[in-house]
Amino acid sequence: MDVFEAMARHDHGQLHFRRDAATGLRAIVAIHDTRLGPALGGCRFARYETEAEAIVDALRLARAMTYKAALAGLALGGGKSVLLRPEGHFDRAALFRAFGRFVEDLAGQYITAEDSGTSMADMDVIRGVTRHVTGAGPEHGGRGDPSPYTALGVRRGIEAAVRFVLGRSALEGVHVAVQGVGHVGHALCKELSALGARLTVADVDPLKCERAAREFGANVVPLDAIFEVECDVFSPCALGSALNDRTIPRLRCRVVAGAANNQLAESRHGEDLMQRGIFYAPDYAINAGGLIHVAGEIEGYGLEETRARCHKIYDTILEIAERAARAMVPTQRIADTMAEERLARAASAS
Ligand code: NAD
Repeated sequence: MDVFEAMARHDHGQLHFRRDAATGLRAIVAIHDTRLGPALGGCRFARYETEAEAIVDALRLARAMTYKAALAGLALGGGKSVLLRPEGHFDRAALFRAFGRFVEDLAGQYITAEDSGTSMADMDVIRGVTRHVTGAGPEHGGRGDPSPYTALGVRRGIEAAVRFVLGRSALEGVHVAVQGVGHVGHALCKELSALGARLTVADVDPLKCERAAREFGANVVPLDAIFEVECDVFSPCALGSALNDRTIPRLRCRVVAGAANNQLAESRHGEDLMQRGIFYAPDYAINAGGLIHVAGEIEGYGLEETRARCHKIYDTILEIAERAARAMVPTQRIADTMAEERLARAASAS
């Protein structure tokens, strides 16, 4: 793999590596952009087929963090770390302590957080050796689960989309089909049901569906049927790539607005949705509530300010909708443009 070529392709200036023989640590930290502030991004712990795959994952995810933080108006840049999971037995605490020392050596340019494969307990271990970590348990000064804030932001984004597309200023009677009622999906159903929305849900876990039916009167449908529910809003809150060649033609909604990351299997699927007259709320714009919550630990604002900032996702989605309609381009491209505008303003101010 040509590392510098990969960095250029993903628009990176910094890529850091650490190997620690004693613990089996093999870690990569990608720092994409620090013009707005230190690079915040989760720590992913996974098995990769090749090292090249791990590097590309770090570069791709770090860049996405820059855009997400910029669009959310945060004083943060974008970064990401990837830890290659060792084969066989390993001492997890020792490994995350070694990773924490790596983060510490980067002297605050990069701040780590929980991501897929890591837990709050791992963040607590890291916090033992560096303060450049967020998302530790409350007993270690962290703020706990970000999901309710992500759900609040998604609810506000849905309200903006419904206003723009359906001309309705309230969610009373609006029908939302939620794919995945896990941490965020459940909290989102709570938000929506409190405002009188009608819910249909699907989840691989039948107990989670039963809970949504019991608590919110949600209608439960089989996994694959969720795409075909005749509704106002389809809300992907499960896995990535929910919007693809197989699912888009089956959608019977006017709006797609949900919490999942990387909802579009490919960027061209955003164009596909636009051509079908379906408004797509760009994932990283609408699901920024969790990041806003975590950023409060770094920027030093409290939960009230966190909620106020999550509420502003309404304005962001509305602006994206208006600009996309004027320019007749897919919404995700407008979101990118808005993030780039903010980065350019920061660059010219410094
Ligand atoms: P979670 O694991 O708690 O919930 C996901 C749910 O989706 C689970 O209940 C799972 O059973 C269900 N699911 C899996 N495959 C499914 C399928 N094919 N059909 C229907 N349901 C399926 O995760 P979460 O924290 O709620 O996050 C949900 C999504 O939102 C993820 O894509 C995550 O990356 C994204 N996200 C989460 C946050 C946050 O604050 N937790 C912030 C931003 C983005």
